[in-house]
Amino acid sequence: MTRVVFRGGKVFDGSGAPLAPADVAIEDGRIVDVGAGLDGDEAVPCEGKALLPGLFDCHVHLMGRYEDRELDIAHRPFSYAFYLAPANLRMTLALGITTVRDAGGADLGIKRAVEHGVIAGPRMQISITMLSQTGGHNDPWLPSGGTSVDWGVGYPGFPMGRCDGIDGVRTKVREVIRAGADVIKIASSGGFFSPSDDPMHPHFAQDELDEIVRTAADLGRWVMSHAHSPESIVRAVRAGVRSIEHGTYLDQRSAEMMVEAGTWLVPTLTAGDTTEELARDEHLAPEIRAKFEGLGRPEFDAMRLAAEAGIKVAMGTDCPVAPHGWNLNELGHMAANGFTPEQAIVAATSSAAELMGLEDRLGTLEPGKIADVVVVGGDPFELEKLKDRIEQVWKDGVRVV
Ligand SMILES: [Zn+2]
Repeated sequence: MTRVVFRGGKVFDGSGAPLAPADVAIEDGRIVDVGAGLDGDEAVPCEGKALLPGLFDCHVHLMGRYEDRELDIAHRPFSYAFYLAPANLRMTLALGITTVRDAGGADLGIKRAVEHGVIAGPRMQISITMLSQTGGHNDPWLPSGGTSVDWGVGYPGFPMGRCDGIDGVRTKVREVIRAGADVIKIASSGGFFSPSDDPMHPHFAQDELDEIVRTAADLGRWVMSHAHSPESIVRAVRAGVRSIEHGTYLDQRSAEMMVEAGTWLVPTLTAGDTTEELARDEHLAPEIRAKFEGLGRPEFDAMRLAAEAGIKVAMGTDCPVAPHGWNLNELGHMAANGFTPEQAIVAATSSAAELMGLEDRLGTLEPGKIADVVVVGGDPFELEKLKDRIEQVWKDGVRVV
């Protein structure tokens, strides 16, 4: 096999160790050596450049687009979304993001198409659909008697997410796992992008949450919980979820519980970048717009509190709540709210890999790891410029960008 050496650059290996001069040798899809003066069959000149591990986005919805409103989705063919998705995948990959956790929307077909090389994209863990109580964040019910298409239409391999009661949630967990879910996504609070629920209300009773986590654990899956309000965080943590998504109104008590339990936070700060625009968007239901009005950026306070408290943080954006391609905004937001730029990149590499249970294969530039390598043309810690400095992206030892 060809041995490729990234030569003459500086390496930030993702572990938190400082940026330092080193070469990286890869062979057969794996990193085989990191150090000075390495030789190989092929050289990638990296003078003046920095090397990062492939980045992660632990909360993304690859099947959706920012610009699509419910009216667009309702009036186009059902299958159209499948043809749009590859562009979202390419845009994500171009940012150096080689691994994602899809928080709802992607099914086993798209995951497998990437695995088999049918389409280019980041490797993914999928949740397929978000479990939500009746009247919750993923209940498509509309007062008109119709059904919202915003959160997907059920089809083979894509069960709808609404469920209630111990038996109901247990069956639903098994159903999404049968359809190929790697991780169970739930909403333990209401949300913003849904008309009839309140982000401050806790959703699912404690015994339902406990049952979800138990059923998932029996089948070797973790649970990720969309949670805005303190009580929704507390209940989910008590149930034993792997990660809190958003955590918008994290407070002292819920923060302490997360530290104690070792629960991860995926702050999705980027989602707030479009709040003001969405509040004015007349193509959104008035009930949804009202939730965005005057919202501000409470998630920044949550991020600062999480950093102070020592909560484990992994990078996730919730794109396309803000458009695909904006994902790296997240790093700048983290660095402006309690993290150093180095910590932000760790959150997007080794920490993210740990959250997803992939730390033995991904997340750092170390011998034995999968050869996902990002070549940055300049200082990688000038985060606002990072997007424009992504020069090459390698995934599984192959240059993909
Ligand atoms: Zn989301």
